[in-house]
Amino acid sequence: MPRRRTHPVQSAILLLLTAAIFVVDAFTRLDTAIAVMYVVVLLLASPVWPRRYTFALGAACGLLTMGAYVVAHGLHVAPSPAGRALVSIAAIAITTWLVLQRQQATDRLRQREQALRRSQAFLAGAQRLSRTGSFGIRVPDGAMVWSEEAARIFGYAGDAAPDMERVLAHTLPEDRALVSAALRRTLACEGHIDVAHRLLLPDGTIRHVHVLAEASYDADGRCEYLGAVTDVTARVEAEQELHASHVQLAHAARVSMLGELAASVAHEVNQPLTAIVANAQAGRRWLGRAQPDIAEALAALDGIVQASERAGQVVRRIRALARRTEPEHVALDLNALVQDTVELLQRELDRRPLALHVELAPGLAPVMGDRIELQQVLINLVMNALQAMDGLPDNRLDLRTRQDDGMAHVSVRDSGPGIADADGARLFEPFFSTKADGMGLGLPICCSIIARHGGRIAARSTPPGSTFSFDLPIHQEAPLHEQQSDAFP
Ligand code: ADP
Repeated sequence: MPRRRTHPVQSAILLLLTAAIFVVDAFTRLDTAIAVMYVVVLLLASPVWPRRYTFALGAACGLLTMGAYVVAHGLHVAPSPAGRALVSIAAIAITTWLVLQRQQATDRLRQREQALRRSQAFLAGAQRLSRTGSFGIRVPDGAMVWSEEAARIFGYAGDAAPDMERVLAHTLPEDRALVSAALRRTLACEGHIDVAHRLLLPDGTIRHVHVLAEASYDADGRCEYLGAVTDVTARVEAEQELHASHVQLAHAARVSMLGELAASVAHEVNQPLTAIVANAQAGRRWLGRAQPDIAEALAALDGIVQASERAGQVVRRIRALARRTEPEHVALDLNALVQDTVELLQRELDRRPLALHVELAPGLAPVMGDRIELQQVLINLVMNALQAMDGLPDNRLDLRTRQDDGMAHVSVRDSGPGIADADGARLFEPFFSTKADGMGLGLPICCSIIARHGGRIAARSTPPGSTFSFDLPIHQEAPLHEQQSDAFP
């Protein structure tokens, strides 16, 4: 029950008024129903005194009316004054009942108002804690309302009037087209809105927000959007840091892998160098003749140029693997990646007794990815396969590409010992290794690289041996409506 303030001055005036009515009623011989004036006392007391006093006051006024009658007329029944007294008592009773009703309604209203204020305060607190603000957009005029937290997230004071231009004004210019498109869809009442974008606040801060909105319809079929905007900056920054450490870890693993492949790398570089030396010697011979053969000498020089270019390519490829760069996602041909990897690992393949089968899907659609990282995955899987087959006779290695269901698929199958049942679930766990000198980081890193490319990596026993494979989504050109213009609406 809400507590009322006490009003000592008003209470004193009311008591005086009551006493005055009694005195006039009891001691004057006026021919009117003076006691009806108690109704005024009751009405004036209703906002001043709490409800529990109203009944007592009504009863007291009724008793005072009877008391005044007895004082004025004794215990005899004088028809006219008795009638007036009864009318007054009836008026007091009815007024008391009405005042009680009104006070009850007022108290209920106050309680509801307090409950509403409390739930508003809870909501505002919850919005502040969860960094989520709410907003509404009316269709088609775009009139907006937003909560204090929503205003704060968009970079305005809590009481700032909301409008779409203000939202766009604090949106990072690169993301404006995206937000404009979402607002246009809202104004056309076109389904669910789910947009993640960045804000650029006047002090230069970048804020990441996630906006969700759902259309609802009122009884007249008018569309209105109710939405929530969440400040996800902390989460995005944590994800970015995690991403950076994954990239660093992948790089460190790549460098250590290159160390393991030093012999292959040296061999790859050596091949064009040998060709250069051979061509140079041949050129000297052609020119050193009594009759120099210019045509043959030129052919030898061409051979030198080609071998030098090839050496340059090899060095560039190795350097790219060793360099630490932020992954760069471009459209990639996985068939070419498999071929490049086979070339890079040629010596590792040559020095083992094995049959290599490469089966590349013709016309394989490109995937979006970082060339270096995906090559790292492939090298890792092939090297694991080779190591698994080390010491075994009649080995076979199958490298395949395939495309189905919007995914490009690469598999590396070996004829090694396969995967023990107990190890199956742990292969992708960090530091799980069955090798004496294994770190157990190769597969977890492959797994995180493929996951960052929106794909999946899997391992299964395919006796004899095992198959490690990964899927990557086929790269599709963005549909036209996603290449929005900056104009709004
Ligand atoms: P590491 O090579 O340092 O052991 P990985 O994460 O690359 O780390 O591999 C983890 C484990 O997975 C290996 O120790 C091995 O037991 C198993 N494994 C990987 N590839 C194969 C394969 N082709 N056949 C059988 N087991 C494999």
